[in-house]
Amino acid sequence: MPNSATLDKSKIYFRLHSWCIPVRGVSRSVICDLSRQSFDFIPNELYAILVDKKGHEMERIFEHYGEDNRSVIEEYFQFLLDNEYIFFCEESETEQFPDVSLSLESPFLINNCIIDSQKYSNHNWKFITSELDELNCPAVQLRFFYREELQKIERILQLFDDSSIKNIDLLVEYDETIEVNAYLQLCDRFPRLSGINICNAPQDNVILTSLVKPVSFYSQKILDHQFCGIIHPAYFSINREVFIEATSHNTCLYKKISIDADGQIRNCPSMKESFGSITQTRLRDIALRPEFQFIGTIAKKNIDVCRNCEFRMICTDCRAYLTQPEDIYSKPLKCGYNPETMEWQEWSKIPENIAAKQHYCF
Ligand code: SF4
Ligand code: SF4
Repeated sequence: MPNSATLDKSKIYFRLHSWCIPVRGVSRSVICDLSRQSFDFIPNELYAILVDKKGHEMERIFEHYGEDNRSVIEEYFQFLLDNEYIFFCEESETEQFPDVSLSLESPFLINNCIIDSQKYSNHNWKFITSELDELNCPAVQLRFFYREELQKIERILQLFDDSSIKNIDLLVEYDETIEVNAYLQLCDRFPRLSGINICNAPQDNVILTSLVKPVSFYSQKILDHQFCGIIHPAYFSINREVFIEATSHNTCLYKKISIDADGQIRNCPSMKESFGSITQTRLRDIALRPEFQFIGTIAKKNIDVCRNCEFRMICTDCRAYLTQPEDIYSKPLKCGYNPETMEWQEWSKIPENIAAKQHYCF
């Protein structure tokens, strides 16, 4: 229970719970609860109190804002208490609750890899697996943009059995000749498989396997890598890992490597620049190159519009499809949010996006 019953303002200090972190936007702010994976909107005036008046005695805060604003400030703090964003303590206790560290440490050179396949692809899966294993890469996303036989997918998954890969995400095109049970069994047979996404299905549906893994059917038509890059509240990741990554790195491309359907190595399959073919170049050599690593250093604070957006620490990013295709620091094209008006629009219908849409052939 929050200590909201009594709000004694004398000689007490407020502290934010460690993983409750406010983020200021140009028109409003959010307070992110990274433990409970949720957020609330707060006015920028309350953000200012939380940041500028941190460590101040409550009574001094009320004095600072004057008697006329007392009821508003009380309302703010009641909201923070009711939602368990803050607690009160004595001055002597304030030092016992230091801020959490937001520094990013990852032991891996590469954290995740996307491998795209079309019907015509000719990947040497055994070689790719060994390359990822050498990098100690912990996660991989396999995207088959066509109807692949489950036996073939099973053979590929088996290659990861003794590898460094701990998590496999699978996307495959819907095939009406494959029974739902076959997907469920495949999912449970491979502990590393976190779930299966099946695109171009007749309808949306999610079925859980006996091990509670999701097999998700999507009616969305996905033909190739161009489907990627949508920014939407449904895809927000309100957690410590993403928040910490967002403070100094790119939330999509930091320590990511990809092999596209033609075997070209890129930061992601949608990025223009290729670093060479997987048949001729070692993944480790590419991963070590500063020009490969550069894109992962672009944080939201470096990106136009996003730097003023209250969602910048919890939304994803996309550097492949941009509102200004020649400006790597421009806003993601597939984000329809305007932080100034606080309104979401369908990104593809925004008039300013027409030229960029034509550029990417959408
Ligand atoms: S950069 Fe964009 S297209 Fe590439 S993986 Fe990230 S979201 Fe997808
Ligand atoms: S404007 Fe930028 S930070 Fe805000 S939701 Fe869109 S992509 Fe995310």
